[in-house]
Amino acid sequence: MKIAIAALLGICSWSFLEYLIHRFLGHHPRFRPNPFATEHVRHHAEGDYFAATSKKALAALAFFALVTPLAVAVAGVAAGLAYAIGLVAMYVAYEVLHRRLHTHEGFGPYGRWARRHHFHHHFGNPKANHGVTSPIFDLLFGTYERVTTVRVPRKLAMRWLFDERGDVRKSVAGVYSLR
Ligand SMILES: [Zn+2]
Ligand SMILES: [Zn+2]
Repeated sequence: MKIAIAALLGICSWSFLEYLIHRFLGHHPRFRPNPFATEHVRHHAEGDYFAATSKKALAALAFFALVTPLAVAVAGVAAGLAYAIGLVAMYVAYEVLHRRLHTHEGFGPYGRWARRHHFHHHFGNPKANHGVTSPIFDLLFGTYERVTTVRVPRKLAMRWLFDERGDVRKSVAGVYSLR
């Protein structure tokens, strides 16, 4: 039980960090410039740019090396490791999901929600919807905006938006339009 709770806490910790890092390091003028913001500004400006996986892996590894001994010191070996593994697993899930939002159309209510939520952040209001995997912290901190439609600049448009003829795919045309 203790181990399951520790893993869950690790998962929640990453969700919170995902929100904090994106909102404050990525977008808040007080904390810029910083290395994350440099990469993040480029992600916004180019649409399909992602920082090199090697850079991210290195940063994640350094972070993991820092957090694990702390967690073990606080909660013991088993629970401490479970916490660190939960945190890293959620971080990896976030990286994979974020990339897929940009590269694939997605399916199911969650897949559609995650894309509306994230592309509204990209193209509607970069001060809203900082969470990528969940809306929890946007809701808690008042940065949540419910999204029904997204107007996407043509030059930044995700490839999955288009059908073979270069028109906005019928399956998503009710939500996404080009500007
Ligand atoms: Zn993005
Ligand atoms: Zn952003």
